Amino acid sequence: MSNNTAKPPLNPVNTIIFVGLPLAALILVPAWGIYRGYDGFQWLWALAFLYLNGMSITGGYHRLWAHRAYRASTGLKWFFAFWGAGALQNSILIWASDHRRHHRHVDDNELDPYSAGRGLWFSHMGWMLRQYRSNEPDFSNAKDLQRDPIVMWQDKHYVALTTFMNLGLPVLLGVWHGDIIGTVLLVGLLRLVVNHHVTFFINSLAHYWGSRPYTESNSARDNGFLAFLTYGEGYHNYHHIFQADYRNGIRWWQWDPTKWMIALCSRIGLASDLNRISDFKIQRAILDTQFQRARSKMDQAHSSESLRASLEREYQLFTESINQWTALQAERYGRKKAELGGALEEKREKLGGALEEKKQRLQQKWENAALRTKLRELEYGLKMQRKRLGLLMQQVQLQAQAA
Ligand SMILES: [Zn+2]
Ligand SMILES: [Zn+2]
Repeated sequence: MSNNTAKPPLNPVNTIIFVGLPLAALILVPAWGIYRGYDGFQWLWALAFLYLNGMSITGGYHRLWAHRAYRASTGLKWFFAFWGAGALQNSILIWASDHRRHHRHVDDNELDPYSAGRGLWFSHMGWMLRQYRSNEPDFSNAKDLQRDPIVMWQDKHYVALTTFMNLGLPVLLGVWHGDIIGTVLLVGLLRLVVNHHVTFFINSLAHYWGSRPYTESNSARDNGFLAFLTYGEGYHNYHHIFQADYRNGIRWWQWDPTKWMIALCSRIGLASDLNRISDFKIQRAILDTQFQRARSKMDQAHSSESLRASLEREYQLFTESINQWTALQAERYGRKKAELGGALEEKREKLGGALEEKKQRLQQKWENAALRTKLRELEYGLKMQRKRLGLLMQQVQLQAQAA
């Protein structure tokens, strides 16, 4: 950063929200707990609100609007617009536009609004407390969102919406329950502050703490523990390289309730066009990172020429597999287009020769299946290559220890 001495002025509203509210929660929540106590009803509703808000940010604001990783029905969009407003993290338009800038300019201290390069505190919440230049709204990257009437309606009525969701609803719950203050403190205040910080972990801790299996070109990390706290967003290294995937935790066992929610919505007809990155591309990213790491390790360990030659041979094989895969994909794409064209022609001509037609269709089917087999073989080849690379690295280690 260029100007450490002259910090920009504080943002008063944000300071009240992000400093005042946590302080209030720290004092008032335990005080009321000692004075009157809370019951299961209030704790349960606080937890329900936490997940409703949190997953409307991750599933709605983030994966749907910022990244367009799937399509949602109008009803689901309204749901996210309301509960997302309840998370008090600004409107969809502002949030998603900021977030797209974060991805595009990740770690750039001038252009990434919450650049991890400016420190843990800055990326967690410092960036919101002052009027930094990197916060100036610029919706040139959100033209599609400006055409979305739900997004624009939410942006226009944001203050009223977030007040109703954060204060109005908890008051109503409190009236129903017979303890307005306690319900507002737990379901309104404490839930809000907790949700704020777990969401902020994605910008702060998930850029500092964890592994980088898919890319080392930016600071984002994969961290299963953070995933548990952040509704699945802790697989942030994967997310930064494949942001268009509706999943962040791609293995079935990886904790990602947001991906499960989206998959469930798609089953019951509320979501469609779920985007998944192909297995091959994922394997390619992992291997590419491992090759880079292997090279620098070999440099450090002053590995022998023969080990280096083995590595380069493996790398050559890797490049060949990728070229083959790209060619096969192009062939498959071309074939799909031709099939579509062919179907049209068939309709136009409406000729006889049913037998000939059937023969051709079978031939096409056979060719498609053969293509799929080849693609799968290539995928398997990459998996095996990862194993061989692992063995090679063990040799490097051994040689370094012996030296
Ligand atoms: Zn990030
Ligand atoms: Zn993202």
